[in-house]
Amino acid sequence: MTNINKERLINYFLDLVKISSPSWKEGRVVEYIVNVLKDIKADIIKYKCGESNNLLVRLYGNVPWTPILFSAHTDTVTPCENIKPVVTKTKILSDGTTILGADDKAAIAAFLEAISQIKENNLQHGPIEFLFTCAEEIGLYGIKEFDLSLLNAKYAFVFDGGGEIGKVILKAPYQTTFNLIIKGKAAHAGIAPEKGVSAIRIASEIITKIPHGRIDHETTVNVGLISGGKATNIVAEETSIALEARSISREKLKSIEKKIENIANSIVDKNKAKIKIYKKLEYSGYAIKENDRIVRILNDALRKIQIKPVYESSGGGSDTNVINRSGIKAVNLSIGMRDVHTKKEYINIKDLVNGSKLVLSIIESV
Ligand SMILES: [Zn+2]
Repeated sequence: MTNINKERLINYFLDLVKISSPSWKEGRVVEYIVNVLKDIKADIIKYKCGESNNLLVRLYGNVPWTPILFSAHTDTVTPCENIKPVVTKTKILSDGTTILGADDKAAIAAFLEAISQIKENNLQHGPIEFLFTCAEEIGLYGIKEFDLSLLNAKYAFVFDGGGEIGKVILKAPYQTTFNLIIKGKAAHAGIAPEKGVSAIRIASEIITKIPHGRIDHETTVNVGLISGGKATNIVAEETSIALEARSISREKLKSIEKKIENIANSIVDKNKAKIKIYKKLEYSGYAIKENDRIVRILNDALRKIQIKPVYESSGGGSDTNVINRSGIKAVNLSIGMRDVHTKKEYINIKDLVNGSKLVLSIIESV
């Protein structure tokens, strides 16, 4: 097992987090990666995506092993201007005024260190692709725009999970969003309330009647937005509700969707109002079986670095969902980030190091 260069890894990480890269403004992170890899024998290709770019780095193998993919996103949530990382004996955190950006720059740093090791030590490896996606945080835009048929990989390792190294997400949900626009009838609230049909009342009834919260261990529903009405003296003519439903099971999701539509339609009919229902599958879910080859590769890779695998399912979506949809088996792995999307975000140096070791170990275990 090759060791990693801890000092160089930390420097990659610190350089990366100091580059501000909110969604659609990842350009300087992409330039940084390209610059670090400029002497590496690899295809480095930028693919335009919105106002930004996805970046694909392709290393040709020196042995004919199964092609694999590593993936991470280059954008972060905000506030991410002037991040001043603080390095203590055991961890790296921000100065408290911004996020840190370990989500997902810890993964980028781990990949860069692994590639540096391959080059320095002339390590044996099969074909490896590294995909750096943009605009993940605001709706997986980078990966959704990327033509996944360009990839040769059979298995994909997305490093975009929180917690200790060794945590692997084998299942993640499908997600559907709904926009319900309810149309009632306006009337003067004091003079002729009986002539009106309140869209707000109908919306309230729908919200209280549909399934909500945790439905079962793999299914959830949430109404997240409501707006409507003009003034207290007008019976509200229009109200819109935005909600989402998620389930690891496509069938359960479909049945919840039907339920929501049926309940909404029948309440609207009863009140002689109208409704427009807009529904969108945001991303597909996935469920990898524990006897799948990708899990065997991970078991081997983790054993070699003496880390115990912890297989879990997640309630959230990531680039992993989209990659699985294309037929490439993909899992989402922890890269050690903690308290992400807050100013308290940090990463333990031990996890940063183990993350990079895991990348190398996977490369050796294919
Ligand atoms: Zn992330």
